[in-house]
Amino acid sequence: MSSTERLYYHDSFLYDFDARVVEALERNGRAAIVLDRTAFYPTSGGQVHDLGTLLAEGRQIAITEVADEEDGRILHFSAAPLPAGTQVHGSVDATRRRDHVQQHSGQHVLSAAFIRLFNMPTVSFHMGVESCTIDLETAGVSVAQAEKAEFLANEVIAEDRPVSIRFVPLEEARQLGLRKLPPKQTGDLRLIDITNFDMTACGGTHVRATGQIGSILLRKIEKVKQGMRVEFVCGQRAVSTARRDYTTLTEAAALYSSHIHDVPEQVRKSLAESKSAGKAQQKLLEELAELSAERMLAQTSGSQRVITRLFPDRNALFIKLLAQKLTAGKTDVIALLASNSGQPTLVFAQSPGQKSNMGQLMKDAMAQLGGRGGGSVEIAQGGLPAGAVDLSRIEALLQEVGAKLQQP
Ligand SMILES: [Zn+2]
Repeated sequence: MSSTERLYYHDSFLYDFDARVVEALERNGRAAIVLDRTAFYPTSGGQVHDLGTLLAEGRQIAITEVADEEDGRILHFSAAPLPAGTQVHGSVDATRRRDHVQQHSGQHVLSAAFIRLFNMPTVSFHMGVESCTIDLETAGVSVAQAEKAEFLANEVIAEDRPVSIRFVPLEEARQLGLRKLPPKQTGDLRLIDITNFDMTACGGTHVRATGQIGSILLRKIEKVKQGMRVEFVCGQRAVSTARRDYTTLTEAAALYSSHIHDVPEQVRKSLAESKSAGKAQQKLLEELAELSAERMLAQTSGSQRVITRLFPDRNALFIKLLAQKLTAGKTDVIALLASNSGQPTLVFAQSPGQKSNMGQLMKDAMAQLGGRGGGSVEIAQGGLPAGAVDLSRIEALLQEVGAKLQQP
């Protein structure tokens, strides 16, 4: 059982290779192949694994995941098992690899930019399907700082600085002033050297020169437990992300018939308008409730006035307001109201000091109709699932409760 020779250590652009199966394993019901040598990169150091195929005896077998073992072996999880001794031809998915190379090398440049400009060390790197993040050990990153780091990183990319891979003994590496030293390491360190800009120990796949990164675009900045998280995308991802952002903005701008740069101002205006329209509507609703209450009270008489009414076109807010207007400042009114716009709602209310219990009446009513509700002695509210109960049943219930309350 010896460790796998890592061909990607020396050439990040090697996509095809020949190898031999040295072990055929099974992990949790999946076939896992160990080769004597591989160009497949296993998930490690923030970079995600490659995909691709193994060609063996005329059969093409998909590699679905690649994992690093602690003992130095690399496991190739495959769609089908292959016996030890099989000669294979491996092909790495080049598009996926190039994307990973752009993101990972971009990360080195960006991390170095944050160190150089603001002395903010990177404590972790994560490569996601859509975007990547680094976590910086710092209390805060301003938008201006992020833009400065992004600018410097893109300058280093435009300068097309050569990136070299070197293997150096640990003692020698200590003298070189690396950006990051691995916690424990035996043997030589693999150094990624971006000429006169950054040198760090890393096992990942990288560009030959910074120009291959293409570009770097910073996105969200957010506070996390260990510091500040900076989201970024490089190369083709930067273009496709910017493309998607532009499409979204264009769609929003079309809704306002405005230029994309005017969208925030248009949204602010719309929000202010809808807020003031809401206020005006609330005021009208209160006035309407007041007038309705006056009219309804004028039609009643007797020592105890029980008012029942179903409003098919009004909502819960209106009947709540109405119930308050009907009962407040009186001594003898009970209002049993229902609305059917939005969620069907019942509101029971009484003037203070009477002997009925609205909360209890509402609980009983809801038990009959299959809804939920309750409240205090004076006012209670219940809701029914939309469309679950016929309006005539609600109306009949209001009448029934009203008749009971009017009995001496
Ligand atoms: Zn790295």
